[in-house]
Amino acid sequence: MFDLSDYQLRQRDYLLRISQAISAQLDLQAVLGLVVEYAVELVAGNYGFIALFEGSEDELRIAVAHQITPDQYAAFKPLLQVLASGAASREQSGRELWLVAEQLGLPLRQMVGLPLLIRGRPIGMIVVFRAAVNVAFTVADRALIEAFASQAAIAVQNARLYQAAVQEQERLNAIIEQSADGVMILDRRWRITTFNRAMELLTGWSREEALGRPCAEVLGIHNEQDVNICLVNCPLQRLPRVPNPTAEGKITTRDGRERYVSSRYSPTYGPDDEFLGAIANVRDVTARKLEEQQQATFVSVISHELKTPVAIIKGYAGTLGRPDATWDEATLRDGLQVIEEEADRLNELIGNLLDVSRLQAGGLRLHLGPVDLPALTARLTQGLAATASDQFEFQLRFPPSFPPVHADEERIRMVLANLLSNAVKYSPQGGVVRVGGWTEGDQALIYVSDQGVGIAPEDQQRVFERFYRVDNSLGRQTQGAGLGLYLARAIVEAHGGQLRVESQPGRGSRFIFTLPLERRSLAVDPDRAATPQ
Ligand code: ADP
Repeated sequence: MFDLSDYQLRQRDYLLRISQAISAQLDLQAVLGLVVEYAVELVAGNYGFIALFEGSEDELRIAVAHQITPDQYAAFKPLLQVLASGAASREQSGRELWLVAEQLGLPLRQMVGLPLLIRGRPIGMIVVFRAAVNVAFTVADRALIEAFASQAAIAVQNARLYQAAVQEQERLNAIIEQSADGVMILDRRWRITTFNRAMELLTGWSREEALGRPCAEVLGIHNEQDVNICLVNCPLQRLPRVPNPTAEGKITTRDGRERYVSSRYSPTYGPDDEFLGAIANVRDVTARKLEEQQQATFVSVISHELKTPVAIIKGYAGTLGRPDATWDEATLRDGLQVIEEEADRLNELIGNLLDVSRLQAGGLRLHLGPVDLPALTARLTQGLAATASDQFEFQLRFPPSFPPVHADEERIRMVLANLLSNAVKYSPQGGVVRVGGWTEGDQALIYVSDQGVGIAPEDQQRVFERFYRVDNSLGRQTQGAGLGLYLARAIVEAHGGQLRVESQPGRGSRFIFTLPLERRSLAVDPDRAATPQ
Protein backbone atom coordinates (compact mmCIF):
# COMPACT_ATOMS: atom_id res chain seq x y z
CA MET A 1 0.00 0.00 0.00
CA PHE A 2 1.10 3.61 -0.55
CA ASP A 3 2.07 6.07 2.04
CA LEU A 4 -0.97 8.38 2.33
CA SER A 5 0.69 11.61 1.31
CA ASP A 6 2.37 9.97 -1.61
CA TYR A 7 -0.94 8.47 -2.59
CA GLN A 8 -2.74 11.81 -2.41
CA LEU A 9 0.03 13.46 -4.35
CA ARG A 10 -0.32 10.94 -7.11
CA GLN A 11 -4.06 11.34 -7.16
CA ARG A 12 -3.67 15.10 -7.48
CA ASP A 13 -1.02 14.65 -10.11
CA TYR A 14 -3.24 12.33 -12.16
CA LEU A 15 -6.28 14.58 -11.92
CA LEU A 16 -4.13 17.51 -12.98
CA ARG A 17 -2.78 15.57 -15.93
CA ILE A 18 -6.31 14.67 -16.96
CA SER A 19 -7.55 18.21 -16.77
CA GLN A 20 -4.53 19.34 -18.78
CA ALA A 21 -5.35 16.67 -21.34
CA ILE A 22 -8.95 17.86 -21.43
CA SER A 23 -7.96 21.42 -22.20
CA ALA A 24 -5.04 20.52 -24.46
CA GLN A 25 -6.77 18.09 -26.76
CA LEU A 26 -10.24 17.56 -27.98
CA ASP A 27 -9.68 13.89 -28.62
CA LEU A 28 -12.31 12.42 -26.32
CA GLN A 29 -11.07 8.82 -26.65
CA ALA A 30 -7.58 9.80 -25.53
CA VAL A 31 -8.85 11.74 -22.49
CA LEU A 32 -11.23 8.97 -21.42
CA GLY A 33 -8.39 6.47 -21.93
CA LEU A 34 -6.26 8.42 -19.43
CA VAL A 35 -9.14 8.70 -16.95
CA VAL A 36 -9.80 4.98 -16.86
CA GLU A 37 -6.11 4.08 -16.76
CA TYR A 38 -5.36 6.37 -13.80
CA ALA A 39 -8.55 5.41 -11.94
CA VAL A 40 -7.74 1.71 -12.23
CA GLU A 41 -4.18 2.29 -11.12
CA LEU A 42 -5.03 4.50 -8.14
CA VAL A 43 -7.55 2.12 -6.64
CA ALA A 44 -5.22 -0.82 -7.34
CA GLY A 45 -7.68 -2.33 -9.80
CA ASN A 46 -6.83 -4.51 -12.78
CA TYR A 47 -9.44 -3.74 -15.43
CA GLY A 48 -11.87 -0.99 -16.17
CA PHE A 49 -13.91 0.81 -18.76
CA ILE A 50 -15.97 3.90 -19.39
CA ALA A 51 -19.31 3.27 -21.03
CA LEU A 52 -21.53 6.04 -22.39
CA PHE A 53 -25.22 6.27 -23.08
CA GLU A 54 -25.31 6.38 -26.85
CA GLY A 55 -28.34 6.85 -29.01
CA SER A 56 -31.11 5.65 -26.76
CA GLU A 57 -31.06 6.73 -23.12
CA ASP A 58 -30.94 3.23 -21.70
CA GLU A 59 -28.20 1.66 -23.75
CA LEU A 60 -24.68 1.84 -22.38
CA ARG A 61 -21.81 1.24 -24.77
CA ILE A 62 -18.14 0.89 -23.87
CA ALA A 63 -16.19 3.91 -25.17
CA VAL A 64 -12.73 3.05 -23.80
CA ALA A 65 -11.33 0.27 -21.64
CA HIS A 66 -8.21 -0.58 -19.72
CA GLN A 67 -6.84 -4.12 -20.17
CA ILE A 68 -10.02 -5.18 -21.99
CA THR A 69 -9.81 -5.48 -25.78
CA PRO A 70 -12.56 -4.22 -28.13
CA ASP A 71 -13.40 -7.77 -29.25
CA GLN A 72 -14.28 -8.54 -25.60
CA TYR A 73 -16.74 -5.62 -25.33
CA ALA A 74 -19.70 -7.64 -26.61
CA ALA A 75 -19.51 -10.03 -23.62
CA PHE A 76 -20.26 -7.10 -21.29
CA LYS A 77 -23.58 -6.33 -22.93
CA PRO A 78 -25.87 -8.12 -20.38
CA LEU A 79 -23.89 -6.62 -17.48
CA LEU A 80 -24.19 -3.15 -19.07
CA GLN A 81 -27.94 -3.63 -19.44
CA VAL A 82 -28.28 -4.42 -15.76
CA LEU A 83 -26.12 -1.41 -14.84
CA ALA A 84 -28.01 0.89 -17.22
CA SER A 85 -31.36 0.00 -15.64
CA GLY A 86 -30.01 1.63 -12.47
CA ALA A 87 -32.17 -0.66 -10.30
CA ALA A 88 -29.95 -3.74 -10.32
CA SER A 89 -29.47 -5.59 -7.03
CA ARG A 90 -25.99 -6.61 -5.88
CA GLU A 91 -26.87 -10.22 -6.61
CA GLN A 92 -28.05 -9.49 -10.12
CA SER A 93 -24.98 -7.53 -11.10
CA GLY A 94 -22.77 -10.04 -9.26
CA ARG A 95 -24.28 -12.85 -11.31
CA GLU A 96 -23.79 -10.98 -14.60
CA LEU A 97 -20.23 -10.14 -13.62
CA TRP A 98 -19.53 -13.80 -12.92
CA LEU A 99 -20.95 -14.77 -16.33
CA VAL A 100 -18.75 -12.24 -18.16
CA ALA A 101 -15.70 -13.40 -16.24
CA GLU A 102 -16.50 -17.00 -17.15
CA GLN A 103 -17.10 -16.23 -20.79
CA LEU A 104 -13.91 -14.21 -21.23
CA GLY A 105 -11.79 -16.22 -18.84
CA LEU A 106 -10.83 -13.02 -17.00
CA PRO A 107 -10.49 -12.78 -13.21
CA LEU A 108 -13.16 -10.11 -12.70
CA ARG A 109 -13.86 -10.64 -9.01
CA GLN A 110 -14.76 -7.25 -7.56
CA MET A 111 -16.52 -4.41 -9.34
CA VAL A 112 -17.29 -0.79 -8.61
CA GLY A 113 -19.35 1.32 -11.03
CA LEU A 114 -20.11 5.01 -10.72
CA PRO A 115 -22.19 7.24 -12.95
CA LEU A 116 -20.74 10.11 -14.99
CA LEU A 117 -23.04 13.00 -14.22
CA ILE A 118 -23.65 16.24 -16.09
CA ARG A 119 -25.84 18.56 -14.01
CA GLY A 120 -27.15 15.56 -12.10
CA ARG A 121 -28.03 13.61 -15.26
CA PRO A 122 -26.13 10.35 -15.95
CA ILE A 123 -24.39 10.29 -19.32
CA GLY A 124 -22.40 7.10 -18.72
CA MET A 125 -20.49 5.02 -16.18
CA ILE A 126 -16.97 4.32 -15.11
CA VAL A 127 -16.49 0.72 -13.97
CA VAL A 128 -13.35 -0.70 -12.33
CA PHE A 129 -12.63 -4.39 -11.61
CA ARG A 130 -10.25 -6.16 -9.29
CA ALA A 131 -8.88 -9.63 -9.79
CA ALA A 132 -8.35 -10.32 -6.07
CA VAL A 133 -11.25 -12.14 -4.41
CA ASN A 134 -10.92 -10.80 -0.91
CA VAL A 135 -10.06 -7.15 -1.41
CA ALA A 136 -13.40 -5.36 -1.74
CA PHE A 137 -13.64 -1.69 -2.86
CA THR A 138 -13.85 0.70 0.05
CA VAL A 139 -15.73 3.98 0.49
CA ALA A 140 -12.42 5.77 -0.09
CA ASP A 141 -11.94 3.91 -3.37
CA ARG A 142 -15.40 4.95 -4.48
CA ALA A 143 -14.74 8.57 -3.57
CA LEU A 144 -11.57 8.48 -5.60
CA ILE A 145 -13.23 6.98 -8.67
CA GLU A 146 -15.97 9.56 -8.28
CA ALA A 147 -13.39 12.31 -8.78
CA PHE A 148 -12.28 10.65 -11.99
CA ALA A 149 -15.91 10.14 -13.03
CA SER A 150 -16.55 13.86 -12.83
CA GLN A 151 -13.42 14.55 -14.90
CA ALA A 152 -14.65 12.09 -17.51
CA ALA A 153 -18.07 13.78 -17.49
CA ILE A 154 -16.42 17.18 -18.10
CA ALA A 155 -14.41 15.73 -20.97
CA VAL A 156 -17.51 14.22 -22.58
CA GLN A 157 -19.44 17.46 -22.09
CA ASN A 158 -16.59 19.49 -23.63
CA ALA A 159 -16.28 17.17 -26.58
CA ARG A 160 -20.02 17.27 -27.22
CA LEU A 161 -20.16 21.05 -27.00
CA TYR A 162 -17.16 21.27 -29.28
CA GLN A 163 -18.74 18.89 -31.76
CA ALA A 164 -22.00 20.84 -31.68
CA ALA A 165 -20.03 24.07 -32.23
CA VAL A 166 -18.12 22.53 -35.13
CA GLN A 167 -21.35 21.26 -36.67
CA GLU A 168 -22.99 24.63 -36.24
CA GLN A 169 -19.95 26.30 -37.77
CA GLU A 170 -20.05 23.88 -40.70
CA ARG A 171 -23.76 24.52 -41.16
CA LEU A 172 -23.19 28.27 -41.16
CA ASN A 173 -20.26 27.92 -43.56
CA ALA A 174 -22.43 25.84 -45.89
CA ILE A 175 -25.21 28.43 -45.76
CA ILE A 176 -22.73 31.24 -46.47
CA GLU A 177 -21.01 29.23 -49.18
CA GLN A 178 -24.22 28.35 -50.98
CA SER A 179 -25.74 31.80 -50.72
CA ALA A 180 -26.54 33.21 -54.14
CA ASP A 181 -25.46 36.62 -52.85
CA GLY A 182 -21.86 37.45 -52.21
CA VAL A 183 -21.08 37.22 -48.50
CA MET A 184 -17.91 38.37 -46.81
CA ILE A 185 -17.08 38.78 -43.16
CA LEU A 186 -14.76 41.56 -42.02
CA ASP A 187 -12.73 41.76 -38.84
CA ARG A 188 -12.25 44.84 -36.67
CA ARG A 189 -9.68 46.21 -39.08
CA TRP A 190 -11.88 45.77 -42.17
CA ARG A 191 -9.90 42.76 -43.33
CA ILE A 192 -11.70 39.93 -45.05
CA THR A 193 -11.98 36.76 -42.98
CA THR A 194 -14.69 34.94 -44.96
CA PHE A 195 -15.28 35.13 -48.69
CA ASN A 196 -17.87 32.91 -50.29
CA ARG A 197 -18.08 31.38 -53.76
CA ALA A 198 -20.56 34.00 -55.01
CA MET A 199 -18.03 36.69 -54.01
CA GLU A 200 -15.36 34.89 -56.04
CA LEU A 201 -17.62 34.86 -59.09
CA LEU A 202 -18.67 38.46 -58.60
CA THR A 203 -15.26 40.01 -57.99
CA GLY A 204 -12.95 37.63 -59.85
CA TRP A 205 -10.80 37.39 -56.69
CA SER A 206 -10.09 33.88 -55.44
CA ARG A 207 -10.75 33.21 -51.77
CA GLU A 208 -7.05 32.60 -51.10
CA GLU A 209 -6.14 35.98 -52.58
CA ALA A 210 -8.95 37.88 -50.88
CA LEU A 211 -8.61 36.56 -47.32
CA GLY A 212 -6.66 38.94 -45.09
CA ARG A 213 -6.90 41.88 -47.50
CA PRO A 214 -8.74 45.10 -46.68
CA CYS A 215 -12.23 45.01 -48.15
CA ALA A 216 -11.76 48.38 -49.89
CA GLU A 217 -9.09 46.76 -52.04
CA VAL A 218 -11.11 43.72 -53.08
CA LEU A 219 -14.53 45.36 -53.30
CA GLY A 220 -13.66 48.98 -54.11
CA ILE A 221 -17.13 50.37 -54.84
CA HIS A 222 -16.83 53.47 -57.02
CA ASN A 223 -19.46 56.18 -57.31
CA GLU A 224 -20.54 58.04 -60.45
CA GLN A 225 -17.52 60.34 -60.12
CA ASP A 226 -15.29 57.24 -60.11
CA VAL A 227 -14.26 57.75 -56.48
CA ASN A 228 -13.68 54.66 -54.34
CA ILE A 229 -16.43 55.08 -51.72
CA CYS A 230 -14.92 52.33 -49.59
CA LEU A 231 -11.76 54.42 -49.15
CA VAL A 232 -13.11 57.95 -48.81
CA ASN A 233 -16.55 57.38 -47.32
CA CYS A 234 -16.58 53.84 -45.91
CA PRO A 235 -20.20 52.94 -45.13
CA LEU A 236 -19.03 51.29 -41.90
CA GLN A 237 -17.44 54.50 -40.63
CA ARG A 238 -20.20 56.92 -41.55
CA LEU A 239 -21.84 58.95 -38.81
CA PRO A 240 -24.48 58.91 -37.50
CA ARG A 241 -24.51 55.16 -37.37
CA VAL A 242 -27.36 53.25 -38.93
CA PRO A 243 -28.04 49.55 -38.26
CA ASN A 244 -27.47 48.42 -41.86
CA PRO A 245 -25.41 50.86 -43.89
CA THR A 246 -25.32 50.29 -47.64
CA ALA A 247 -23.19 51.21 -50.60
CA GLU A 248 -23.98 50.96 -54.27
CA GLY A 249 -21.80 51.55 -57.28
CA LYS A 250 -19.40 50.18 -59.79
CA ILE A 251 -16.58 47.71 -59.19
CA THR A 252 -13.86 46.56 -61.51
CA THR A 253 -13.32 42.83 -61.16
CA ARG A 254 -9.88 41.27 -60.82
CA ASP A 255 -10.09 40.34 -64.51
CA GLY A 256 -11.06 43.85 -65.57
CA ARG A 257 -14.84 43.55 -65.98
CA GLU A 258 -17.16 46.28 -64.76
CA ARG A 259 -20.09 45.30 -62.55
CA TYR A 260 -22.62 47.24 -60.50
CA VAL A 261 -23.04 46.02 -56.96
CA SER A 262 -25.17 46.84 -53.99
CA SER A 263 -23.61 46.00 -50.65
CA ARG A 264 -25.42 45.88 -47.31
CA TYR A 265 -23.48 45.65 -44.05
CA SER A 266 -24.39 44.28 -40.62
CA PRO A 267 -21.77 45.67 -38.26
CA THR A 268 -21.19 44.71 -34.62
CA TYR A 269 -19.86 47.05 -31.96
CA GLY A 270 -18.21 46.38 -28.60
CA PRO A 271 -19.18 47.77 -25.18
CA ASP A 272 -17.14 50.94 -25.81
CA ASP A 273 -18.83 51.36 -29.16
CA GLU A 274 -15.71 50.15 -30.95
CA PHE A 275 -16.13 48.42 -34.30
CA LEU A 276 -15.74 44.64 -33.96
CA GLY A 277 -16.47 43.49 -37.47
CA ALA A 278 -19.23 43.18 -40.02
CA ILE A 279 -20.95 40.88 -42.44
CA ALA A 280 -21.32 42.26 -45.93
CA ASN A 281 -24.01 41.02 -48.27
CA VAL A 282 -23.11 41.92 -51.82
CA ARG A 283 -25.52 41.68 -54.74
CA ASP A 284 -24.80 42.01 -58.45
CA VAL A 285 -27.21 44.68 -59.71
CA THR A 286 -25.62 45.10 -63.16
CA ALA A 287 -28.73 43.90 -64.98
CA ARG A 288 -30.95 46.34 -63.09
CA LYS A 289 -28.49 49.20 -63.67
CA LEU A 290 -28.32 48.48 -67.39
CA GLU A 291 -32.10 48.26 -67.51
CA GLU A 292 -32.32 51.69 -65.87
CA GLN A 293 -29.80 53.10 -68.32
CA GLN A 294 -31.70 51.54 -71.20
CA GLN A 295 -34.95 53.02 -69.97
CA ALA A 296 -33.35 56.46 -69.87
CA THR A 297 -31.91 55.98 -73.36
CA PHE A 298 -35.25 54.63 -74.53
CA VAL A 299 -37.11 57.74 -73.48
CA SER A 300 -34.62 60.11 -75.09
CA VAL A 301 -34.12 58.09 -78.29
CA ILE A 302 -37.79 57.30 -78.82
CA SER A 303 -38.99 60.78 -78.14
CA HIS A 304 -36.40 62.10 -80.59
CA GLU A 305 -37.23 59.46 -83.19
CA LEU A 306 -40.97 60.09 -82.89
CA LYS A 307 -40.72 63.84 -82.75
CA THR A 308 -38.54 64.27 -85.83
CA PRO A 309 -40.91 62.76 -88.44
CA VAL A 310 -43.92 64.34 -86.77
CA ALA A 311 -42.22 67.74 -86.93
CA ILE A 312 -41.30 67.22 -90.60
CA ILE A 313 -44.82 66.06 -91.51
CA LYS A 314 -46.36 68.97 -89.65
CA GLY A 315 -43.93 71.43 -91.23
CA TYR A 316 -44.59 70.20 -94.78
CA ALA A 317 -48.34 69.87 -94.32
CA GLY A 318 -48.50 73.37 -92.83
CA THR A 319 -46.42 74.87 -95.60
CA LEU A 320 -48.21 73.08 -98.45
CA GLY A 321 -51.60 73.96 -97.00
CA ARG A 322 -50.95 77.69 -96.55
CA PRO A 323 -53.93 79.53 -98.10
CA ASP A 324 -51.76 82.46 -99.16
CA ALA A 325 -49.37 80.36 -101.21
CA THR A 326 -49.69 78.46 -104.46
CA TRP A 327 -47.27 75.66 -105.23
CA ASP A 328 -46.30 74.21 -108.56
CA GLU A 329 -46.99 70.52 -109.10
CA ALA A 330 -43.35 69.40 -108.66
CA THR A 331 -43.05 71.12 -105.27
CA LEU A 332 -46.36 69.65 -104.20
CA ARG A 333 -45.30 66.15 -105.26
CA ASP A 334 -41.94 66.44 -103.51
CA GLY A 335 -43.60 67.72 -100.36
CA LEU A 336 -46.18 64.95 -100.32
CA GLN A 337 -43.45 62.37 -100.93
CA VAL A 338 -41.53 63.61 -97.91
CA ILE A 339 -44.74 63.39 -95.86
CA GLU A 340 -45.29 59.84 -97.06
CA GLU A 341 -41.69 58.79 -96.34
CA GLU A 342 -41.79 60.27 -92.86
CA ALA A 343 -45.14 58.60 -92.21
CA ASP A 344 -43.57 55.30 -93.33
CA ARG A 345 -40.70 55.88 -90.91
CA LEU A 346 -43.11 56.54 -88.11
CA ASN A 347 -45.06 53.45 -89.05
CA GLU A 348 -41.89 51.33 -89.08
CA LEU A 349 -40.75 52.66 -85.73
CA ILE A 350 -44.15 51.98 -84.17
CA GLY A 351 -44.08 48.48 -85.72
CA ASN A 352 -40.63 47.88 -84.23
CA LEU A 353 -41.74 49.10 -80.82
CA LEU A 354 -44.72 46.77 -80.95
CA ASP A 355 -42.44 43.87 -81.88
CA VAL A 356 -40.19 44.69 -78.94
CA SER A 357 -43.10 44.57 -76.53
CA ARG A 358 -44.39 41.37 -78.16
CA LEU A 359 -40.96 39.84 -77.69
CA GLN A 360 -40.92 40.82 -74.03
CA ALA A 361 -44.42 39.48 -73.55
CA GLY A 362 -43.44 36.01 -74.71
CA GLY A 363 -42.01 35.68 -78.13
CA LEU A 364 -42.78 36.22 -81.76
CA ARG A 365 -45.22 34.10 -83.73
CA LEU A 366 -43.72 32.80 -86.96
CA HIS A 367 -45.55 31.74 -90.11
CA LEU A 368 -43.07 29.25 -91.47
CA GLY A 369 -42.74 28.12 -95.04
CA PRO A 370 -40.17 27.81 -97.84
CA VAL A 371 -38.42 31.11 -98.54
CA ASP A 372 -36.35 31.80 -101.65
CA LEU A 373 -33.58 33.99 -100.24
CA PRO A 374 -31.82 34.94 -103.51
CA ALA A 375 -35.13 36.20 -104.93
CA LEU A 376 -36.00 38.04 -101.71
CA THR A 377 -32.61 39.78 -101.50
CA ALA A 378 -32.72 40.65 -105.21
CA ARG A 379 -36.01 42.50 -104.67
CA LEU A 380 -34.66 44.29 -101.61
CA THR A 381 -31.40 45.39 -103.22
CA GLN A 382 -33.22 46.62 -106.32
CA GLY A 383 -35.37 48.81 -104.12
CA LEU A 384 -32.31 50.09 -102.25
CA ALA A 385 -30.25 50.65 -105.38
CA ALA A 386 -33.02 52.91 -106.66
CA THR A 387 -32.92 55.14 -103.59
CA ALA A 388 -29.24 54.92 -102.47
CA SER A 389 -26.63 57.22 -103.95
CA ASP A 390 -24.48 56.24 -106.92
CA GLN A 391 -21.57 55.60 -104.61
CA PHE A 392 -23.06 52.21 -103.78
CA GLU A 393 -22.75 49.00 -105.68
CA PHE A 394 -24.93 46.05 -104.66
CA GLN A 395 -23.68 42.55 -105.37
CA LEU A 396 -25.60 39.29 -104.91
CA ARG A 397 -23.42 36.28 -104.19
CA PHE A 398 -25.67 33.22 -103.90
CA PRO A 399 -24.60 30.00 -105.59
CA PRO A 400 -26.99 28.80 -108.29
CA SER A 401 -29.81 26.57 -107.02
CA PHE A 402 -29.51 27.89 -103.46
CA PRO A 403 -32.09 25.79 -101.58
CA PRO A 404 -35.08 27.43 -99.88
CA VAL A 405 -34.90 28.08 -96.14
CA HIS A 406 -37.65 27.20 -93.68
CA ALA A 407 -38.66 30.61 -92.36
CA ASP A 408 -41.21 33.36 -91.94
CA GLU A 409 -40.76 35.34 -95.16
CA GLU A 410 -42.06 38.65 -93.85
CA ARG A 411 -39.82 38.52 -90.76
CA ILE A 412 -36.73 37.51 -92.73
CA ARG A 413 -37.46 40.34 -95.14
CA MET A 414 -37.33 42.67 -92.09
CA VAL A 415 -33.98 41.20 -91.00
CA LEU A 416 -32.43 41.58 -94.45
CA ALA A 417 -33.94 45.04 -94.97
CA ASN A 418 -32.46 46.15 -91.67
CA LEU A 419 -29.00 44.72 -92.38
CA LEU A 420 -29.00 46.23 -95.85
CA SER A 421 -30.22 49.65 -94.77
CA ASN A 422 -27.60 49.66 -91.98
CA ALA A 423 -24.93 48.74 -94.54
CA VAL A 424 -25.91 51.86 -96.50
CA LYS A 425 -26.51 54.05 -93.44
CA TYR A 426 -23.13 53.33 -91.86
CA SER A 427 -21.08 53.63 -95.09
CA PRO A 428 -20.81 57.39 -95.57
CA GLN A 429 -18.32 56.93 -98.42
CA GLY A 430 -20.50 54.41 -100.22
CA GLY A 431 -18.81 51.21 -101.46
CA VAL A 432 -19.75 47.67 -102.30
CA VAL A 433 -22.58 46.04 -100.34
CA ARG A 434 -22.58 42.28 -100.79
CA VAL A 435 -25.29 39.81 -99.89
CA GLY A 436 -24.68 36.13 -100.29
CA GLY A 437 -24.93 32.77 -98.68
CA TRP A 438 -23.89 29.16 -98.60
CA THR A 439 -25.19 26.00 -97.01
CA GLU A 440 -23.62 23.87 -94.31
CA GLY A 441 -25.34 20.64 -93.27
CA ASP A 442 -28.98 21.40 -92.61
CA GLN A 443 -28.59 25.17 -92.40
CA ALA A 444 -28.02 28.18 -94.59
CA LEU A 445 -25.55 30.93 -93.72
CA ILE A 446 -26.39 34.35 -95.07
CA TYR A 447 -24.21 37.45 -94.91
CA VAL A 448 -24.50 41.15 -95.62
CA SER A 449 -21.19 42.97 -95.87
CA ASP A 450 -20.24 46.59 -96.36
CA GLN A 451 -17.15 48.78 -96.62
CA GLY A 452 -18.38 51.32 -94.11
CA VAL A 453 -17.18 52.69 -90.75
CA GLY A 454 -17.11 49.29 -89.07
CA ILE A 455 -17.74 48.57 -85.38
CA ALA A 456 -15.13 48.68 -82.61
CA PRO A 457 -14.57 45.32 -80.86
CA GLU A 458 -16.06 46.59 -77.56
CA ASP A 459 -19.31 47.53 -79.37
CA GLN A 460 -19.67 44.37 -81.42
CA GLN A 461 -21.81 42.59 -78.82
CA ARG A 462 -23.58 45.69 -77.62
CA VAL A 463 -25.03 46.70 -81.00
CA PHE A 464 -27.50 43.82 -80.55
CA GLU A 465 -28.81 45.31 -77.31
CA ARG A 466 -32.09 47.15 -77.21
CA PHE A 467 -31.70 50.90 -77.89
CA TYR A 468 -27.94 50.64 -78.19
CA ARG A 469 -26.36 52.95 -80.75
CA VAL A 470 -22.63 53.44 -81.10
CA ASP A 471 -21.85 56.86 -79.78
CA ASN A 472 -19.87 58.46 -82.62
CA SER A 473 -20.39 61.38 -84.95
CA LEU A 474 -22.04 59.15 -87.57
CA GLY A 475 -24.38 57.73 -84.96
CA ARG A 476 -25.43 61.24 -84.06
CA GLN A 477 -25.97 62.20 -87.71
CA THR A 478 -27.98 59.14 -88.71
CA GLN A 479 -31.46 58.34 -87.55
CA GLY A 480 -32.26 55.22 -85.67
CA ALA A 481 -33.62 53.94 -82.39
CA GLY A 482 -31.15 51.12 -81.87
CA LEU A 483 -33.87 48.52 -82.29
CA GLY A 484 -33.08 47.04 -85.72
CA LEU A 485 -30.32 44.63 -84.74
CA TYR A 486 -32.02 43.71 -81.48
CA LEU A 487 -35.12 42.66 -83.41
CA ALA A 488 -33.10 41.04 -86.20
CA ARG A 489 -31.29 38.84 -83.70
CA ALA A 490 -34.53 37.97 -81.90
CA ILE A 491 -36.16 36.98 -85.21
CA VAL A 492 -33.19 34.86 -86.29
CA GLU A 493 -33.06 33.19 -82.87
CA ALA A 494 -36.80 32.49 -83.00
CA HIS A 495 -35.98 30.49 -86.16
CA GLY A 496 -33.34 28.55 -84.20
CA GLY A 497 -30.51 30.45 -85.89
CA GLN A 498 -27.79 32.86 -84.80
CA LEU A 499 -26.81 36.36 -85.87
CA ARG A 500 -23.32 37.75 -85.31
CA VAL A 501 -21.03 40.42 -86.64
CA GLU A 502 -17.43 40.49 -87.82
CA SER A 503 -15.98 43.92 -88.28
CA GLN A 504 -12.84 45.97 -88.60
CA PRO A 505 -13.28 49.60 -87.65
CA GLY A 506 -12.73 51.80 -90.68
CA ARG A 507 -12.89 48.91 -93.12
CA GLY A 508 -16.40 47.57 -92.93
CA SER A 509 -18.66 45.01 -91.29
CA ARG A 510 -20.08 41.65 -92.14
CA PHE A 511 -23.27 40.43 -90.47
CA ILE A 512 -23.83 36.68 -90.74
CA PHE A 513 -26.90 34.72 -89.73
CA THR A 514 -28.04 31.15 -89.98
CA LEU A 515 -31.44 29.73 -90.83
CA PRO A 516 -32.67 26.16 -91.09
CA LEU A 517 -33.03 24.80 -94.63
CA GLU A 518 -36.43 23.67 -95.79
CA ARG A 519 -36.60 19.92 -94.96
CA ARG A 520 -37.52 18.84 -98.45
CA SER A 521 -34.42 20.43 -99.85
CA LEU A 522 -32.08 18.43 -97.60
CA ALA A 523 -30.12 15.65 -99.30
CA VAL A 524 -32.19 12.46 -99.49
CA ASP A 525 -31.10 9.87 -96.95
CA PRO A 526 -29.48 7.12 -99.14
CA ASP A 527 -30.77 4.32 -96.86
CA ARG A 528 -34.30 5.56 -97.21
CA ALA A 529 -33.97 6.05 -100.94
CA ALA A 530 -32.98 2.40 -101.28
CA THR A 531 -36.03 1.17 -99.37
CA PRO A 532 -38.53 -0.42 -101.82
CA GLN A 533 -41.86 1.42 -101.88
P1 ADP B 1 -30.10 51.86 -85.57
O1 ADP B 1 -29.46 51.66 -86.90
O2 ADP B 1 -31.52 52.22 -85.61
O3 ADP B 1 -29.30 52.72 -84.68
P2 ADP B 1 -29.54 49.05 -85.12
O4 ADP B 1 -29.95 48.15 -84.01
O5 ADP B 1 -29.85 48.60 -86.48
O6 ADP B 1 -30.13 50.47 -84.81
O7 ADP B 1 -27.98 49.24 -85.00
C1 ADP B 1 -27.41 49.56 -83.75
C2 ADP B 1 -26.10 50.29 -83.92
O8 ADP B 1 -25.14 49.40 -84.50
C3 ADP B 1 -26.16 51.44 -84.89
O9 ADP B 1 -26.56 52.63 -84.23
C4 ADP B 1 -24.74 51.52 -85.37
O10 ADP B 1 -23.97 52.28 -84.47
C5 ADP B 1 -24.26 50.10 -85.36
N1 ADP B 1 -24.34 49.46 -86.67
C6 ADP B 1 -25.33 48.69 -87.17
N2 ADP B 1 -25.04 48.24 -88.40
C7 ADP B 1 -23.83 48.75 -88.72
C8 ADP B 1 -22.97 48.64 -89.86
N3 ADP B 1 -23.31 47.93 -90.92
N4 ADP B 1 -21.78 49.30 -89.81
C9 ADP B 1 -21.42 50.01 -88.73
N5 ADP B 1 -22.19 50.15 -87.63
C10 ADP B 1 -23.36 49.51 -87.61
